[in-house]
Amino acid sequence: MDIKTFKRGIRLPTRKTATEGKPVETIPTPKQVVIPINQHFGAPNQALVAVGDRVKRGRKIAGAVKPGSLAAPVHASVAGIVRKIEPRLQSNNTDGVCVYIEADAERALTDTEFMPPLDAFACSKDEAIARVRDAGIVGMGGAGFPTYVKLSPPPGKHIDTIIANGAECEPYLTIDEALMIEKPKQLIKGVAIVMRITGVQNAIIGMEDNKASLVPALEQEIRSAGLEGKISIGLCRTRYPQGGEKLLISALTGREVPSGGLPMDAGCIVNNAGTLVAIAEAFDLGKPLVDRDLTVSGLACKTPKNIRAPIGAMLTDLPQCFMDVDYDKLHKILFGGPMMGTSAPTLEIPIQKNTSGVILMTREETAAYAESSCIRCGRCIRGCSCGLSPVLMNIALNADDLDEAARAGLMDCIECGGCAYNCPARIKLTQRFRVGKQLLRARRQTAAKK
Ligand code: SF4
Ligand code: SF4
Repeated sequence: MDIKTFKRGIRLPTRKTATEGKPVETIPTPKQVVIPINQHFGAPNQALVAVGDRVKRGRKIAGAVKPGSLAAPVHASVAGIVRKIEPRLQSNNTDGVCVYIEADAERALTDTEFMPPLDAFACSKDEAIARVRDAGIVGMGGAGFPTYVKLSPPPGKHIDTIIANGAECEPYLTIDEALMIEKPKQLIKGVAIVMRITGVQNAIIGMEDNKASLVPALEQEIRSAGLEGKISIGLCRTRYPQGGEKLLISALTGREVPSGGLPMDAGCIVNNAGTLVAIAEAFDLGKPLVDRDLTVSGLACKTPKNIRAPIGAMLTDLPQCFMDVDYDKLHKILFGGPMMGTSAPTLEIPIQKNTSGVILMTREETAAYAESSCIRCGRCIRGCSCGLSPVLMNIALNADDLDEAARAGLMDCIECGGCAYNCPARIKLTQRFRVGKQLLRARRQTAAKK
């Protein structure tokens, strides 16, 4: 099989061996879950339950403030009683309103209110899109973009390729790999449903070549589903950030997403492997997105593992994980991978729809260095997978010149962290770009309202 790749990028230590090949463990249900009502990119939700309400697992507890807006509903992940609705710290380091549910001791997972199963190939396209929307499915690779929107490209956009993103290029994380080993049937079914909804006849499952051992089982599933010739597997060189949508499209199809554009501008729809499994389960089981599979790893974790937990669970409420934390060594907590994840001040943060991992790092692992001055070495430019000039963007941001930063490509930055990793002066480039993008977006929104 040809090994595909994209231009530039960097080689990283993968640090996956601690959890590689480990099955996904189902953790005993916590006594309570704390579910953020907004776990998506888009318009805000509002709570649809009140303190004291008894809810079943799968009950819709939050939905869009404005019906029809870009949003994804949120569902109770356990059966129990709503005890509180109030703001608390979330994994993006902002406070957001959460619904606290005290789990029913006996029937937390069995007292359910799922939707009826739906045949994705017999229902109408509109019904199928509505099912993905009503299940609250969002991009589980990190972005949290509502998936139903991706499946309904605007008129004029010609889509000819569906891509299943199983690259999982972030160090430490192995949950997508575990899912592809455990649920290949659901993965292929999820791809087939997306193909059915979009009418596209060609799909590629993209993964890094460190997961080549998964290929025979996946090919077998493709044959069993009668989709040979329609779904193929694309192996890509293990190189960071291969899992970025733009880079995966570039490696698998040779196409470039234009500046400021989306995958659909290159004729592609990209969905994370976990998202595709969730889609299959929304049809087959009527199950909304109430559980999250994630990797818990890092050198301050005594027994790294892949786990399945109800959304809203906190590691501190999951005894198997809580007891695994080596508090003497714990120096940094990361939600997501070490390159694109966010650092958290505490473990008491709920697991969300887009939490692909929690990494418990020691001081040695974090290698915190003081910043020094830029030496104009150009390493950040050579390593930038998006072909940008991080050094110029940084100079512009330091001068508070957002327009110049935008001209240098700020909004095309995928915040992969590659430039900061490569920078000998240890300049926190990516953090600056993240803030710069937020400022630019806010300024553009204000200008649009005038
Ligand atoms: S963080 Fe942005 S600028 Fe830096 S390497 Fe990644 S895409 Fe390029
Ligand atoms: S890698 Fe760092 S030191 Fe080198 S040019 Fe870029 S910002 Fe400057």
